[in-house]
Amino acid sequence: MRVLVIEDHQRLAKLIVEGLAGFGIGADTFPNAEDGLAATKSISYDALVLDLGLPDRDGLDVIQELRAKSIRTPILILTARGGIDERVEGLDRGADDYLPKPFAMKELAARLRALLRRPGGPLGTTIDIANLRPCLFGPFPVSFPSAKSTISP
Ligand code: CA
Repeated sequence: MRVLVIEDHQRLAKLIVEGLAGFGIGADTFPNAEDGLAATKSISYDALVLDLGLPDRDGLDVIQELRAKSIRTPILILTARGGIDERVEGLDRGADDYLPKPFAMKELAARLRALLRRPGGPLGTTIDIANLRPCLFGPFPVSFPSAKSTISP
C-alpha cells in the first residue's frame, strides 16, 4: 500500500510519512499541488492524502482536476479549515473522506485502510481463482465463465 501525501507543512508531512510507516503504509510527500499532481502521472498510488491549503493551488481544485481526468484514486482531505461547508464541497468535488487537523495518526491510518477496503481498492479486491466466481479487479467487474479446464496428455 502506497499513498501520496500533498502537504506543504514540512514538519507535518514528515510526521505523516513516519507515522504511516508505523502502520505499514508507505508514503511519498510533496509540498505543493504541481509536484504532487506530476507524481500521480508516473506512480499509481493507492490513495491520496491532500491538504486543502497549498501554496500554489487550492486543494479543492486539485480534487476537481484529478476527477476530471477520471483518476479515481481515493482522496482523503486533511484540513485545518473548520467549516462544514468546505468539507462538504470537498466531498462533492470528489474527495472520499476528510480528517480535520489536528488528527491522530492512528485515525488517519484507519481511514486510509477503510478507503482501500472499498470495492475496487487494493484491500477490497477479491480474486478467487479456486472456484472462478465473479470478482472485482480494479474498477472493472470481471466474470469468469464457469468452465472446467481439461489437461490432456
Ligand atoms: Ca497547508
